[in-house]
Amino acid sequence: MAFQLLVTAGDGIGPEVTREAVSVLQTVFARSGQSLEVTEKRIGGIAIDTDGTPLPADTLEAALASDAVFLGAVGGNKWNALPPSTRPESGLLQLRAALGGFANLRPAFSIAELAANSPLKLDIVSGTDILFVRELLGGLYFGSPREWNRAAGEAWNTMRYTRDEITRVARIAFDLARKRGKKLTSVDKANVLEVSQLWRSTVTDVAADYPDVTLEHQLVDSMAMLLMTSPRNYDVVLTENLFGDILSDESAVITGSLGMLPSATIGGRVNLYEPIHGSAPDIAGKGLANPLGAILTGALVLRHSAGMDAEAEAIESAVRSALQLGFRTADLVRASTTDFTVLSTTEMGKKIRELLPA
Ligand code: NAD
Repeated sequence: MAFQLLVTAGDGIGPEVTREAVSVLQTVFARSGQSLEVTEKRIGGIAIDTDGTPLPADTLEAALASDAVFLGAVGGNKWNALPPSTRPESGLLQLRAALGGFANLRPAFSIAELAANSPLKLDIVSGTDILFVRELLGGLYFGSPREWNRAAGEAWNTMRYTRDEITRVARIAFDLARKRGKKLTSVDKANVLEVSQLWRSTVTDVAADYPDVTLEHQLVDSMAMLLMTSPRNYDVVLTENLFGDILSDESAVITGSLGMLPSATIGGRVNLYEPIHGSAPDIAGKGLANPLGAILTGALVLRHSAGMDAEAEAIESAVRSALQLGFRTADLVRASTTDFTVLSTTEMGKKIRELLPA
């Protein structure tokens, strides 16, 4: 049976980078003799313009019936005046909620050839390869009670987790660590928060089923520092929702460009895949968008939804080769450097397809 991929390219550079990622996936499926069926639906600003809503019913229906959903990016200046609940971004939030993924995977890596683009020192970032596993549906963002009592000048949120919520995301993180460097760092604030004490005790219990994976615990404040001073020490980093939001953004600087980073949200009804960048209205339509984050997101589709690990690695290796050969999109080139071949969005997509194994 064909693998059913729903593509929601969205706004701005979303369609530009998605086109290249899908084209790479089509090449990989064709070469491996497997069948891929791509359906395209609208989401975000373009859906507001045509359907009057950022998440049309037929998009949601198609998403729930698919094997995986690939999203480009949503949003743009044109829709900024709308109230938050009807903006393009609300379509993405509704889609995430409907698909129900609770584990957000976000790699932070430094391909040696790109380390020079990082604001951090080359000898610190070079060779970094971290996979963040962030719990996405619990914690402070969802816990109740929550309220801003304006009259009393007081506001509160609740950081709440159950043992089951922690166990299911920890299992995903341990399974991934087992396939990578066999090291898992669990982040909490167990010296102060009861919810973190439950987190630490639950993760320690789950670790008993993974004797081949080394578990360490880190407090979130020291982890924020350690990620910048010794990022190479980390393999899989497991966090609750708020801590992961902050630490994974902090670590995005390691790569040096937003355009390079993929993400996946798994564990729900259907997995959702998206590059971490937004719709970049400042460069939309100019052929300047870096499609590598979207292309690497395609590799995550293969690994986490299609059971095609070798093909995922082939895409990642083609990206590394392109960089080693000196090919760059404009965001990866500093003004002072001249020894690179600068490619447009479509040229970079074509280059990656050429570098895939025959
Ligand atoms: P952004 O990620 O779109 O852009 C930030 C900067 O990075 C810009 O200078 C942009 O040109 C650059 N950039 C981003 N992706 C790039 C790529 N692939 N290649 C080269 N350069 C790239 O973030 P923003 O400017 O804060 O937001 C723009 C719009 O995107 C807003 O409407 C925002 O709400 C939306 N947004 C959407 C998502 C999503 O769909 N998941 C995520 C973040 C922001």
